[in-house]
Amino acid sequence: MVANLLEDIVVRALGFSFKSSGLALVLGMAVGLLTCACQPPKSSNPAQAPFSGAPPITAADSKSLVHSDLNEMAQPGDEREAEALRAYDQSHGGIFSQIFGGPSKAHAKNFIDERIKYFLTPEELKAWQVPSLQKQPQNWITESDSETEKKMTEKNAQVIAVNSGMGLWLENVIFGFNHALEIPGRGLVPVESSRIGVMMIGPGYQPSRPFEFKNEGVKVVATQPDYRQRTLVHEARHSDCTGGLSEDDLTIVRKVRSLKEFMERYPNLACGHIHVNCPEGHPLAGIPACDRHPWGAYSVDAIYSEGTLAAMSAGNRAGDHTARVIAEMQVLDSWSRVLVKKEGLLSGRLGQPDMTHVDSIRKHRTND
Ligand SMILES: [Zn+2]
Repeated sequence: MVANLLEDIVVRALGFSFKSSGLALVLGMAVGLLTCACQPPKSSNPAQAPFSGAPPITAADSKSLVHSDLNEMAQPGDEREAEALRAYDQSHGGIFSQIFGGPSKAHAKNFIDERIKYFLTPEELKAWQVPSLQKQPQNWITESDSETEKKMTEKNAQVIAVNSGMGLWLENVIFGFNHALEIPGRGLVPVESSRIGVMMIGPGYQPSRPFEFKNEGVKVVATQPDYRQRTLVHEARHSDCTGGLSEDDLTIVRKVRSLKEFMERYPNLACGHIHVNCPEGHPLAGIPACDRHPWGAYSVDAIYSEGTLAAMSAGNRAGDHTARVIAEMQVLDSWSRVLVKKEGLLSGRLGQPDMTHVDSIRKHRTND
């Protein structure tokens, strides 16, 4: 039913969105932390470069939009929607509650609050970041940013948000760097945990975007808050170092020479919920916008999208056909980034979601 509806109305979304993890920072280190995949190609001002056809939004406006989206999650809202979300949770073995701590958008808001403390524009991040003076080894990952940017341009992909705190932390632990943040009112704060919680708002965080409809052509459509909130839960998941890392693991990572090798050898993809390149045949093939491990950022994003779609279909918004079709497409998009079997996740065969976080680095791998 969903697929038919999609085939019927939405042929494809223009400006396919790409959510980057801190891995974008790892990619960007060769040319400086802020000149990475965080910025869209062919633009000097990321805040002024929305998907083609959509009205521009300033960085300050995108920040207000984040806060208004978070605020919406905390409101009681439509009771029929809330009930439908609880019903979704029950019929899916309580998976929404297991991930977010309870069957409501307010629980998902708490989940975000625990993991992201600061939502910054690119300029604010630049001002706050105190980069380490140490340099990564010259022969570490040698791909340049331009290669990733080229792929993103080819696919018309754009960054919605980046969990920069996780990226900075990962660099600190891999190379013994001392990146810190100059937080207004708090002074210099060392980045000692992926849960420092800093999200950079990317150029793709927009109130509207173009979609191509089969019979109506391209239309710029105002998206629902749910559409953007999934990005916030996604980025929040990147703050979790699930399962931790060890010194032995870091020794392996220090020896990688390419991004591909990094993705293959990074010992615990669940620490920072690192993405891998999407496979051949995927709309984002060759771009790190897919998850190879269970219960990563895209799985969490997919469960949020499914739950909120169920909600949307039951309340006052049920009659908004366009909004529902876009929400259905977003569910398919999120699951398409999850390379493990959905059935394996929902049946528990691939394990229950581990929502804990480990800050410290062990000496040795526990499984050795
Ligand atoms: Zn991500």
